[in-house]
Amino acid sequence: MAVIEIQNLTYTYPATSHPALREVSLTVEAGEFVAIIGPNGAGKSTLCYTLAGFIPHFFKGELQGEVRVAGQDIRRVRLEDWVLKVGLVFQNPFNQISGAKFTVYEEIAFGLENIGVPREEMKRRVEEVMALTGIEDLADRSPYALSGGQQQRVALASILVMQPEVLVLDEPTSQLDPIGTREVFQVIRRLAHQGVTIIMAEHKVEWIAEYADRVIALAEGRVIGTGTPADVLTDP
Ligand code: ADP
Ligand code: ADP
Repeated sequence: MAVIEIQNLTYTYPATSHPALREVSLTVEAGEFVAIIGPNGAGKSTLCYTLAGFIPHFFKGELQGEVRVAGQDIRRVRLEDWVLKVGLVFQNPFNQISGAKFTVYEEIAFGLENIGVPREEMKRRVEEVMALTGIEDLADRSPYALSGGQQQRVALASILVMQPEVLVLDEPTSQLDPIGTREVFQVIRRLAHQGVTIIMAEHKVEWIAEYADRVIALAEGRVIGTGTPADVLTDP
């Protein structure tokens, strides 16, 4: 079943003349791990922001074409409802991590507390995502005292605890060393096996080749290639 369906998406940021995305069409199946590659300015972040609903709900601009997640049109859903379906992980985990006074456990529980999830359920869900992301030993630590890979997994866990159907990651390993990068890729791979649909903007092609199911290549806002990592990443 296609979870993400994009048809002829053209998007232009406010007060700019050139579209950041041009006639982009793609579908992604449930549980697929799709990597988005392309040079700087290709439109990778813009595609991530669109899937996450920031475009058109936060960055207004002009959006043409169709963007659907789980059958719902992005223009017809409020951002606060959309963010429960689609989680976005940024490059820098500190765009996500909310405050130094929190422990890792409190950090991850924060979103559930905000929507009033009962204490027992909250504890169960927080412990589940800590195990999934391999940070169960860090519950009482400050997120600020962790390695980059651990911090990014805390950010990831705080998104996953909300149980999104789709997880969008915008170069989540760009600040990480190879150890942290592997930790993040392994968690992502595990999530895809569990049925979470993954879209990840990433330029580390050797890691994509090892972990992703499919690659979509962008250049100047257009899709210029799609296929298995072996197909797309090997020059003809
Ligand atoms: P990538 O993530 O592949 O580097 P981006 O999606 O960031 O590409 O950028 C695509 C194009 O959109 C670029 O030309 C960039 O300058 C432009 N762009 C990105 N963000 C904004 C913004 N907030 N306002 C105006 N133009 C933007
Ligand atoms: P990325 O690696 O995500 O493409 P960038 O350095 O291109 O990072 O962009 C960083 C931030 O600046 C993003 O929030 C993006 O939306 C914004 N941005 C990029 N290009 C422009 C632009 N031409 N005008 C305004 N904001 C932009």
